[in-house]
Amino acid sequence: MTATRVLVLNSGSSSVKYQLIDMADGSRPAAGIVEHIGERGGVADHAEALGVVADELAARGLGLDSPELAAVGHRVVHGGTRFTEPTLVDDAVLAAVEELVPLAPLHNPANITGIRVARALRPDLPQVAVFDTAFHSTVPEHAYRYAIDRETADAHQVRRYGFHGTSHAYVSRATAGLLGKDPAEVNVIVLHLGNGASASAVRGGRCVETSMGLTPLEGLVMGTRSGDVDPAVVFHLTRTGGMSVDDVDALLNKRSGLLGLCGDNDMREIGRRMAEGDESAQLAFDVYVHRLRKYVGAYTAVLGRVDAIAFTAGVGENSPAVREAATRGLEALGIELDGVRNAVRASSARLVSAKSSKVAVAVVPTDEEQEIARQTYALVTGR
Ligand code: AMP
Repeated sequence: MTATRVLVLNSGSSSVKYQLIDMADGSRPAAGIVEHIGERGGVADHAEALGVVADELAARGLGLDSPELAAVGHRVVHGGTRFTEPTLVDDAVLAAVEELVPLAPLHNPANITGIRVARALRPDLPQVAVFDTAFHSTVPEHAYRYAIDRETADAHQVRRYGFHGTSHAYVSRATAGLLGKDPAEVNVIVLHLGNGASASAVRGGRCVETSMGLTPLEGLVMGTRSGDVDPAVVFHLTRTGGMSVDDVDALLNKRSGLLGLCGDNDMREIGRRMAEGDESAQLAFDVYVHRLRKYVGAYTAVLGRVDAIAFTAGVGENSPAVREAATRGLEALGIELDGVRNAVRASSARLVSAKSSKVAVAVVPTDEEQEIARQTYALVTGR
């Protein structure tokens, strides 16, 4: 029997998501999530969560020992400068991913546990790490370098890395497909608007700019993260606001963004409140959209020629209001939305721009699991 299935594991800070994808026919025989890791009522830790995943699969006859399984593909958030491609995991790779923990203290430890447990359960099976930073490794130095003292920056690996790379890779390629073109022929701005949010500029299939930085905090306004702020905000809050660095870290990552502005981080709830005339919900929406528009303008200048803007992830795929507000009045940039198409709810990739629009505006559902499985399978089969 040929092994054509890939188990994709996404071990987040408090959850483990899994999908079993069959690369022969694109089917997904199993998918699930173990949530509330380390919380009351949930499993104790990631090791236990992975055990639950293994048991759920085994109960359906799809266990880790199944001969159809070709590999496990793991999402790993931070690959630093070392990992720019999907990588077969061995002890040295695991040690190197461990060394990157200071750069991604919230994410890499969970990813590492996921890999360790999966390896222990099925030692002979190839385990592949697919890095969230990898797609951004083509961003040129003038875009990834912060304008701070070079020696200090280099000594501490301070630079922009970018995240959500698997999504930006998948969506930019799918957008080219939607236009009936080869990715090498098109320039795309991808707006990944989920609870975390990031933008990227992709020229001919290669990423040339992205909005997240050293960590996922930089850039767009997100569900709970501030995105861009003057770094002096940190000095001010520690020096005169009496906050510790950890307090400010928690403020900017967990109590800012839409949540900090209006008390809700879910765009659906914000929409409902706006319809009732709620001013703080309206302000949160306006701040969110204003930032998005600034990035669309900036990335238009970075690319020079834009063929498509692709909206993806929870908000990008499901909020006509955000898409409309983000592109309104941009005819001078060649961007024209079709109001009727934009309002249609659908789950497939589609164009929402007017026929006369020079820039195609697309809604492209992201599929990080599919992309991780594709890269994993390509690596282990040499295809
Ligand atoms: P993600 O991180 O991609 O799963 O996106 C999650 C976010 O998508 C939620 O926090 C919501 O703000 C947003 N979202 C999901 N469904 C909708 C919807 N129907 N309309 C507007 N926003 C939505």
